[in-house]
Amino acid sequence: MSEFSLPAIQTLGAIDRSILSAERRLARAPSLAAPQQARVAEAKKALEELKAKNNQAKLTLKQLESSVRVKEEEIGKTNVALNTAKSNDEYQTLLRKIDRLKQEVSDTETQILEAFEGQDGRDAEVKRYEARLKEQEAELKLALARVKAEEDEINAELDGLRKQREEAASAIQDDHLGLYDKVLSKTKDSAIAQIVNENCAACGLRVRPDQISQARGEKLIVTCTSCGRILHL
Ligand SMILES: [Zn+2]
Repeated sequence: MSEFSLPAIQTLGAIDRSILSAERRLARAPSLAAPQQARVAEAKKALEELKAKNNQAKLTLKQLESSVRVKEEEIGKTNVALNTAKSNDEYQTLLRKIDRLKQEVSDTETQILEAFEGQDGRDAEVKRYEARLKEQEAELKLALARVKAEEDEINAELDGLRKQREEAASAIQDDHLGLYDKVLSKTKDSAIAQIVNENCAACGLRVRPDQISQARGEKLIVTCTSCGRILHL
């Protein structure tokens, strides 16, 4: 292999580390708004549940009111039947029926009153939940703006780094750059590794003595036989 420049490769490696770190920060940026997103989702769910409960209570109220109407009609009909009762027994039975229905109407009306009283509280609670949701949504909007600002900043940084990378890459000959890029795309973190205690610092594989002396010379490219990274001392 032709002579290569270790410092140029190391410069490229340092830029790529910065790019990788910026890309990781960029990927994490949306999580800055995650707590606010969770709170909005929670507030929405609580509001929906409360509204469902409220609707159910309104339905129950309508059912109670309709049952009072049915019973009042029945009382009316029974009163008419009193006039045509054929015996005292029948008359007494009808009277008892009327009393029972009146009692039931009275009980149901009490329930209706209680349901009405609860209604105001529930309506007010819905309003409170709606206001809470609005607050959470406003906070989310601010958080999303912060995410956007962070992303813009990192993207600007990345633009600069990629320009630096182009320059640094142009100082490296094509076959070495090709090897470097191939290793980087495979390892996803770094294309170069130091030899520490005769081992590849990245994967831990023992480096042969002849490779170590080649690396010391810095004239030939030496790669780790396991992870493929370009080795240096
Ligand atoms: Zn290795």
